[in-house]
Amino acid sequence: MTQATDYIAQVAADLAKRDPNQPEFQEAVSNFLGTITPVFEKHPEYIKANVLGRLTEPERAISFQVPWQDDEGNLRINRGFRVQFNSAIGPYKGGLRFHPSVNLSIIKFLGFEQIFKNSLTGLPIGGGKGGSDFTSKGKSDAEIMRFCQSFMIELQRHIGLDIDVPAGDIGVGGREIGYLYGMYKRLRGAERGILTGKGLSFGGSLARTEATGYGLLYYTQAMLKENDKDITGKRIVISGAGNVAIYATEKAEQMGAKVLTVSDSNGYVYDENGIDVAVLKDVKEVRRARLTEYAKAVPSAQYHEGSVWDADLKYDIALPCATQNEINGDQAAKFKAAGVFAIAEGANMPSNPEAIASYKANGILYGPAKAANAGGVAVSALEMGQDSRRMADSFDTVDGQLKEIMENLFANSVAAAKEYGVAGDYLAGSNIAGFVKVADAMTAQGW
Ligand code: GLU
Repeated sequence: MTQATDYIAQVAADLAKRDPNQPEFQEAVSNFLGTITPVFEKHPEYIKANVLGRLTEPERAISFQVPWQDDEGNLRINRGFRVQFNSAIGPYKGGLRFHPSVNLSIIKFLGFEQIFKNSLTGLPIGGGKGGSDFTSKGKSDAEIMRFCQSFMIELQRHIGLDIDVPAGDIGVGGREIGYLYGMYKRLRGAERGILTGKGLSFGGSLARTEATGYGLLYYTQAMLKENDKDITGKRIVISGAGNVAIYATEKAEQMGAKVLTVSDSNGYVYDENGIDVAVLKDVKEVRRARLTEYAKAVPSAQYHEGSVWDADLKYDIALPCATQNEINGDQAAKFKAAGVFAIAEGANMPSNPEAIASYKANGILYGPAKAANAGGVAVSALEMGQDSRRMADSFDTVDGQLKEIMENLFANSVAAAKEYGVAGDYLAGSNIAGFVKVADAMTAQGW
């Protein structure tokens, strides 16, 4: 045992004791700690500064009540969160997730990942995350608006242009951001950079809607290129049917690949002709309907119940874009036989630890979420910049910057992995590259 391994083991043990009921948070930290030893061997000063102790405890974690009235006049109560994890390199930045599964463990896992993801983008943003166990599904527009207004009445005390800038995540899209911003404006004035993912008519950025999905494909393309492979003609399985999945599908098809599936929480659509992204957008973005409607609209498509990762398909690339822990070890173990040689994560932590181990054991190229899906938050930071300049950049300008950011962050992860003796391990490389910048900023600023 070296001093570094002792220290990391101690941090893990302390955390297991402190937050035993936060499995998702424990999982995210453990995935990270499992890759970071070489950095501490090279930089014992990070041990002295107890950088990991500070990084595994949020700087601030806020939990609040969100009362709202439904259309029948009943007073409903949800739980709201904002976890401000680390501000070493910039104001807290990260999305809000509205989903019934949301709890402190999930928000902390997301906030922890966000620290390193945001650092990897090369932009000056710290890590944070928030949300609620509320869901917009099945609610009227008026109910969603009242909920968002109530959420912001509390949240506004904690955010600020140079403090904390929220955005969307699962269940929070342009509609919710619009209502949240409207309430913020009534309370505090028209500070447009206070939220990102806004509508284009009030400070939003072109290409923000597309950014996570497009960025995922720019990352995948860079990862394939590094391994002398090309995306053209490849068969891709995508899970999810939200914003990330839709624009990942669109960009993959623009790059000449064929996307065979998209999925929702009940099942998946399989279309051997390739998913028709125009129909997908109509079903999900315009009609806000279930995927069964896609299958009704497209004769070549079949709808199957169950997880797409249990489907018996032959394909080359897996792009999970649904949610955390959607791929388990058994499902991952079948990838090799299905023909899969690469996986890149559009969702946050979609692969459980056994799945990640399986990719490694089978030599499958693995692009981890905090790198592969960083395009969304990267364009959020560009949106903040446009709002400060009171300017709006063109689609091509933003898209070009996004592509450059994704290529750079992939290259930086490759270089970090090489420098620390774990060449080819993109998970370790991303963790290390994201971490070193934050650790340097933390030690330079003292405590
Ligand atoms: N929720 C997105 C993520 O997981 C985007 C956050 C943002 O734009 O601030 O990175």
